[in-house]
Amino acid sequence: VTHKNKYNNQYKNKRIIFRVTSYNRLSFPVLLNVWEQHHLHHEFEIIRREEPLHREEIRDGDIILFSFMTCFLPDIDAEVREIRRAGKKRVLVVGGGSHVTGDQDLTHRMGFDIQFLGYAETSFRQFGEHLLDDHIQSVYHDIGEDENVDEKGDENVETSANREALDFDRYLPITVFQATVPPLEIMRGCRWMCKYCSTPSHRVRYRSMESIARHLGELKKRNMARVNCISPSSMEFGAASNRRLNLEKIEALLDYTVRQRFRFVEYGIFPSEVRPDTVTAEGMAILKRYVTNKYITIGAQSGVNRRLKELRRGHSTEEVEMAIEIANANGFRVHLDFIVGYPDETLDELTTTVEFIKAINKKYRIRTHLHHFIPLAGSAYAFRLPTFIPEKGKDLLRKLKTAGIAAGGWVENEIQALRFFKWLKNTYPDYYDRYH
Ligand code: SF4
Repeated sequence: VTHKNKYNNQYKNKRIIFRVTSYNRLSFPVLLNVWEQHHLHHEFEIIRREEPLHREEIRDGDIILFSFMTCFLPDIDAEVREIRRAGKKRVLVVGGGSHVTGDQDLTHRMGFDIQFLGYAETSFRQFGEHLLDDHIQSVYHDIGEDENVDEKGDENVETSANREALDFDRYLPITVFQATVPPLEIMRGCRWMCKYCSTPSHRVRYRSMESIARHLGELKKRNMARVNCISPSSMEFGAASNRRLNLEKIEALLDYTVRQRFRFVEYGIFPSEVRPDTVTAEGMAILKRYVTNKYITIGAQSGVNRRLKELRRGHSTEEVEMAIEIANANGFRVHLDFIVGYPDETLDELTTTVEFIKAINKKYRIRTHLHHFIPLAGSAYAFRLPTFIPEKGKDLLRKLKTAGIAAGGWVENEIQALRFFKWLKNTYPDYYDRYH
């Protein structure tokens, strides 16, 4: 379907408003980079907006982009309603990010005109081109990773998978619209499929050294002192399959980075955490030789083996302990992430996790971060209700905090979860009924 010329470039020079928040600021720069590489950004007025929009600010033909996780839906819903109240014509509300990728039903009902599913480099370019050739009427639907794109400029592109790999390498999180540069995504997708996690698992990609070198060159040009990266399982960078580590590849990456003389080279901390079952003496020795971080972050997630099995984590509490021992022996403190409030969690289960944390805290140099479970769209637990922790359980967690053993991030997560479900029950009760 094409509506070429019918509307006479109705979106050219219109405002493209990126709604930037603390939780999506890592993802927008790469999309802007896509448009910059194809000179599409000159055709619009690009705006980074850090505050919610008010109806009186909205203009005809505004295109407003959101990227968000499930727990932020109450705020997004309020903003979309406010935008619609302006009553302006041809306003496009566009969504992407992990919630939209996992579930488009609710966001359709919230009034999103266009939704980007999965990784959006390829489709975001297509979107920009369609806006310009007035083809936009034909993309009033969900745009997936496998959409057909006219690849005039690229040779050797045969399949959408090839194209996705090429585009992953081609674009960098660097844009003229933002002075800061977010960490570089070096690994995309994860094969583990842990039940609470919405990281796509169907394809795992690694950024090439050529692309990484290009990025480091750009950081140097900007006098940036710090290098860090995004990876769902950093010690599996380059791995052919789960746990088949490719330490040579990690060493080559770190060696190259260090030789570029950056002041801080970080690896194995947020946002490139380490799975416990990938911690080896050899791997830690390599990290110690190159990185400037004094600790690594390991996802432990539970102190109960039955839960770890149910979550499909693929490791045990014993492996968590072994990983800490190896990391400590190689000179790293360990930051551990745990989740509490899992579906059907009993007070006994919570108590066992707390006891596990206390025990390892006595033996090793660690710091623990506690998060509260919130269901994420697209995950196996997408429609599971959290177990809101009873007072007795909260006392145990508060004592961990008072003793300086565990940070209390779970408190904010719990407030967020309560707010999400209250909003859902009041606003979309039929949707709320899907949770159990
Ligand atoms: S929690 Fe980590 S290891 Fe598990 S699926 Fe998600 S990214 Fe992969």
